[in-house]
Amino acid sequence: MSRFSALVRLSLVLALAIPNALAVLAPSRIYAAAIPHSTRCRPPSWHVIETANFRIHSYGTAPVSRQTAAACERQRDQLRRRWLADADPGAWSPKCQVVIHPTDDSYLRETGHGPRTTVASSLVDRKDGQISLRRIDVRATNSNWLPTAFAHELAHVVLAERFVEGALPRWIDEGIAILADSPQRREGHERALKQAVRRGTQFRLVELLALADYPPPDRWGTFYGQSASLVEYLVAQQGQQRFVEFVELAAAQGCEDALRHVYGVGITGLEQSWRRQVFATSISTATAQSPNRGPASAVSTRAG
Ligand SMILES: [Zn+2]
Repeated sequence: MSRFSALVRLSLVLALAIPNALAVLAPSRIYAAAIPHSTRCRPPSWHVIETANFRIHSYGTAPVSRQTAAACERQRDQLRRRWLADADPGAWSPKCQVVIHPTDDSYLRETGHGPRTTVASSLVDRKDGQISLRRIDVRATNSNWLPTAFAHELAHVVLAERFVEGALPRWIDEGIAILADSPQRREGHERALKQAVRRGTQFRLVELLALADYPPPDRWGTFYGQSASLVEYLVAQQGQQRFVEFVELAAAQGCEDALRHVYGVGITGLEQSWRRQVFATSISTATAQSPNRGPASAVSTRAG
C-alpha cells in the first residue's frame, strides 16, 4: 500500500526512524565483519545487503540471501518494463531501502499503527521535484512476504518514478499495485468487490475517480477491489502503454477529459460498459437489500 495518503504523517515518523534504524545497523555491520566466518553460536543482529537498486536491512544470524536480493531486482525490472517502458532505465538514487522487520512490534513502530494487518508498506518522499526517499517495510513474521506482498509495494515505488509530483490518482495507484499481487490476493479483492456489488455498496465511478485519499476503513475492501477491476478493464481495452497515457493525462487534466481523449468515453459511459462486462453476473443476482445498508465488508483490511 502505497501509502501516499499518509506521506506527510509517515514521512515525519520515518524521517525520524531511519536515522535510528541506520544507527542500529551500523554497529551490526562492524560486528558482522569482525566475527569469525563460522555461523555457529552467532547471535542475531541487523544485517544489510546491497544491490544496484536496493539496500536490504534484515535481522537474524545472516543477511537475506543473494537469491532474495536478486528477486527484488527482478521484480523491479518486470514492473518497470510493464509500466514504464519508455523510462530512463538508470539505477535508483537513492536506492530503495527495504527493512525486513523481525517482529510485529518493530513493523508497527516504523510504519505507524494504521496498517496493523498489512504484510508490507511503502513510502515515497519527494523534495524539490525529486524522489528523496524510497522505502518498503516488510513484516518478516509472514515468511511469504516476497511473493505475496513485496511486488505490490514495489509497484507503488516504481510508479512514483513517473509521477514525481505525487499526482497519481489513488484508485489508479492501488489498482496497478494490485495487478502485481499474487492470484490469491487478487481473488480476495475480487470477492470483496462482488460482495459490494451484490449489496449495492460499490462506489459510483464518479465518486471513485474523484477520491482524493483512501476512503474510510470500512470501504477499503470495496475500494481495492473496484480500483483493481477498473484498471484491469481499461488495460484490456487498449493495452498498458495506452493506459499509462491515460493516467498521465488524468493526472494533468482530470479523469473525465482523459477518458474522452484516450478511450472516447466519459465517466458515465465507462461505468455502464464496465459494469456490463465485468459484473453482469453479480449485478443480476443482487437482492432487494437497501443500497446503503452499511459497510461493504471487512474482507480486505490492507491500509495501503
Ligand atoms: Zn497499495
